[in-house]
Amino acid sequence: SFDANAVPQAPEDPLFGLMAAFRRDTDPNKVDLGIGAYRDDNAKPWVLPVVKKADEKLRNDPNLNHEYLPIAGLADFTSASQKLVLGGDSPAIKEKRVTSLQTISGTGAVHLGALFLAKFYKPNSNRTAYFSDPTWPNHFQIFNNVGIPQKTYPYFSKQTKGLDFDGYIKSLESADEGSIIVIHACAHNPTGVDPTQEQWKKIAEVIRAKKHFPFFDTAYQGFASGDLARDGWAIRYFVEQGFELCIAQSYAKNFGLYGERAGCFHFITSPSTDAQSVVSRVASQLAILQRSEISNPPAYGARIASIVLNDAELFAEWEANLRTMSGRIIEMRKVLRAKLEEAGTPGTWNHITDQIGMFSFTGLTEQQVLKLREDSHVYMTKNGRISMAGLNTHNVDYFAKAVDQAVR
Ligand code: PMP
Repeated sequence: SFDANAVPQAPEDPLFGLMAAFRRDTDPNKVDLGIGAYRDDNAKPWVLPVVKKADEKLRNDPNLNHEYLPIAGLADFTSASQKLVLGGDSPAIKEKRVTSLQTISGTGAVHLGALFLAKFYKPNSNRTAYFSDPTWPNHFQIFNNVGIPQKTYPYFSKQTKGLDFDGYIKSLESADEGSIIVIHACAHNPTGVDPTQEQWKKIAEVIRAKKHFPFFDTAYQGFASGDLARDGWAIRYFVEQGFELCIAQSYAKNFGLYGERAGCFHFITSPSTDAQSVVSRVASQLAILQRSEISNPPAYGARIASIVLNDAELFAEWEANLRTMSGRIIEMRKVLRAKLEEAGTPGTWNHITDQIGMFSFTGLTEQQVLKLREDSHVYMTKNGRISMAGLNTHNVDYFAKAVDQAVR
């Protein structure tokens, strides 16, 4: 019989635990660099102006109701999501080689993809999923839940605080054929380190040679460089090369729709005469999985994103909002680096501006991170990752001085 008394205590989620500790701290100078959520220059959450407009439009729509969405979600949203991630004139869309389902944000998309692969992806080898070392920790939990064995590929070089490209490639080469390779499309979390276009080409070459299956996780499109096409380049390149692949897409960061859970899962099959039939069979199975997991996705966030994505004027305004967010983060990188270098803080700090996206992997040790928390009320994850969005013109000087103290 079930003995609930035998259920062991699980550890608290480190990131959400950190947030709770920050909230308890009463120091007026406290700095939150933990969670990956955009903050404005006053450390406040920012509702994108374009989202406010779409929200108003939505609320004033006399036809708005609260009926269920279809199992695959809002069709206007999923088709606009395809165009966003693949490019409007993608041959994969024209040739109907893509099927897409709206999901519970990026997490739900990763989960749906993992579940689908667990059930249907059966290469001859033992089908291991490879993650970058380090990666978003939830990747492990999600793939673990569906019983897919896991390994990592080298990614971050402690020496250069950049990409360990050789290690990455060697690992892809030595992995069993047909492995699932989970890839951050841009603005890698937690390191802020992305491959160059030349490096992406080599990665694609090895993945092709080893018949691996690429699984893209795109949670920061437009947020990294401020340019949607540039941030989508790697995925579009792989699709151009004819890969069969899947994509987990999140609108949490680039629309600031964190809690609304708007996301999309895409499966793209290679060009072939029966591509459409493959896609329709895959779609039918995904629908069954979705139905058993969530029945149908939540409407609100997807409706907001859909209004923006399907209106040229609002879309352009969204792009401007994206530039506001990415621009402020890039500016903070410059200021932080300059302050550390001016102070002669031991170590090199070029990686602060070399890295992109929401996070920076500072290279601070766990001991230094804890010292920063105790002495200066600065909160970041133990691996030394900081959310750049937590820095602003009012606290960047304080933070740089705190780092200087912790490092000496
Ligand atoms: N993948 C990565 C790499 C992420 O950083 C995130 C956000 N932290 C997600 C997926 C998904 O987040 P969400 O479920 O909020 O869209």
